[in-house]
Amino acid sequence: MYQVTFDEKDTIIRIDRELMAPETVSRFLDLVNLAAALKDSRLADDWERMFTRMLGFPTGVRLIRDPAFNKGTAFPEKEREVLGLRGLLPPKVHSMDDQVLRVLENFRRKPNDIEKYIFMISLQDRNKTLFYRIVTDYIEEMMPIIYTPTVGQACVEYGHIFRRPRGIFISAKDRGRMPDLLRNWPYQDIRIIVVTDGERILGLGDLGADGMGIPVGKLALYTACAGIHHALSLPITLDVGTENEALLNDPLYIGLKQRRLRGAAYDDFVEEFIMAVEEVFPRALVQFEDFANVNAFRLLEKFRERICAFNDDIQGTAAVTLAGIYSALRITGGRLREQKFLFLGAGEAGLGTADLTVSAMVGSGLSAEEARELCWFVDSRGLVVKSRSDLSGHKRLYAHDHEFIPDFLTAVETLKPTAIIGVSGKARMFTRPILEAMARINERPLVFSLSNPTSNTECTAEEAYNWTEGRAIYTSGSPFEPVVYQGKKFVPAQGNNVYIFPGVGLGAIACQARHVTNEMFSVAAKTLASLVSDDDLEQGSLFPPLPKIREVSAAIATAVAEVAYERGLATVPKPEDLQGFIKSQMYEPKYHSYV
Ligand code: NAD
Repeated sequence: MYQVTFDEKDTIIRIDRELMAPETVSRFLDLVNLAAALKDSRLADDWERMFTRMLGFPTGVRLIRDPAFNKGTAFPEKEREVLGLRGLLPPKVHSMDDQVLRVLENFRRKPNDIEKYIFMISLQDRNKTLFYRIVTDYIEEMMPIIYTPTVGQACVEYGHIFRRPRGIFISAKDRGRMPDLLRNWPYQDIRIIVVTDGERILGLGDLGADGMGIPVGKLALYTACAGIHHALSLPITLDVGTENEALLNDPLYIGLKQRRLRGAAYDDFVEEFIMAVEEVFPRALVQFEDFANVNAFRLLEKFRERICAFNDDIQGTAAVTLAGIYSALRITGGRLREQKFLFLGAGEAGLGTADLTVSAMVGSGLSAEEARELCWFVDSRGLVVKSRSDLSGHKRLYAHDHEFIPDFLTAVETLKPTAIIGVSGKARMFTRPILEAMARINERPLVFSLSNPTSNTECTAEEAYNWTEGRAIYTSGSPFEPVVYQGKKFVPAQGNNVYIFPGVGLGAIACQARHVTNEMFSVAAKTLASLVSDDDLEQGSLFPPLPKIREVSAAIATAVAEVAYERGLATVPKPEDLQGFIKSQMYEPKYHSYV
């Protein structure tokens, strides 16, 4: 399975492994995997000699300080001996399970979520294997810390809690040298990049370079939830300035203190970035993340058919929301084409969801026009209708021939939707009268309150159940505790994009897809909904329990890769057992022996 190539000085210069693993190494991309591989190789009987050949493999203090290889107190006796660790560690050799206990004890002792975030990020800096073991095994407890909602607060405070840099920052000053910057990254075979320009971080607005917390967090989830090895991923922030006055005046802000590039200057900058990626990391999938509305759709349209790319805010959100709709329809027994959707907010999440829902309805026999008639929008100025002259490009597709309605409650009462989908980024917009109206109109109203973070949710789980007599089919963008309404316990699952993007990414890179298509997201939504059990639905969960996320990601990855093979978009031969192959490629965070 592995082939190791040495140069004339006996230094490893190349490791080839089927499909996903790093191929060319200057420093060891993944010594942990390599160590496992070499065990099976012709050199298996000569481990210690191997180490002397492994130029660059850290020993002593350098090894303990290298987060990719460090095992902390879990280095066994033999490794302590061979690798110069004697005396540098306390005598007791702990198991990984002991270390997990220690981390959890310290984690749970932290007084608030941002302290927990700082603690986990510091662990990631010290010992990646242990970090990913814990995030994987305790995903329900860890997700709200390393990702939404806490990551939002972490970005707001990024310059103030800054410890160590992560990922690559490319600033407006780096025009003309972007490939060189990318080459500074220590790993050469990057398969997945998450990139932001920080202009629309979650529902928090323009956080400039402080938005780096988002790509870092997203990629941690790729590793924990889909087993994409961290050495294959790269977080990138494009620092094109910020319009955030507070940041411009903050001495601890980490980005350029200048206004954002706009127009041609911005477009040229992004174009140069994509060209640099094509040159330096030609096999990387690029995930656009938290770009502002004005740029997100345009960049996606420009690059989706040129490189392998997608936008999670548009397509990932759409797929997880559509999956939630499919699950809800399993409860109501209704059909997709019989629904009427009213969105609050006509941005990336709302329009992306409507587009994907329309394509799913077209798949079930409606024309695109008929399907769009079932999707309505209220934005910050009111109902999106043809008579409005202030509608930007994409919104116009959903402008209906209808009288203008200035507010959401009247829109609900007039249009009588079966589902309301909150993607406005504005708190408490699903008021009691709105939810009561939804409950009058529908036996089981669909109430999706997707805005993040928690403080921006359109309505809480408790409000949704209390104000609809417990009849709402509810999901939210941020997590909520279970709610008991008149003796019945509801456990609403978070409509988190994490159910979708790790699986889509894994599927795309496993078959080295040329592009990521909308069909892949539709298939991902269907696959996700099919994995929700009747018991989940019974308690009001529209998504599977988070601890099943690796299983979910493997299933989605398989379905996505199947589409790539069917459509001729895969660039490597199809393995006989696709799902088996994909599962075999998923990184499992555990210590391998080095000697
Ligand atoms: P966006 O900035 O592209 O769009 C926001 C939209 O809301 C705009 O159309 C704006 O006009 C509208 N809006 C603002 N104030 C409004 C008001 N008072 N009434 C009605 N509409 C109003 O942002 P986006 O990417 O579409 O994200 C929107 C929200 O959805 C964010 O809070 C984000 O965190 C959340 N989101 C959740 C998920 C998820 O739960 N899986 C995924 C993506 C985004």
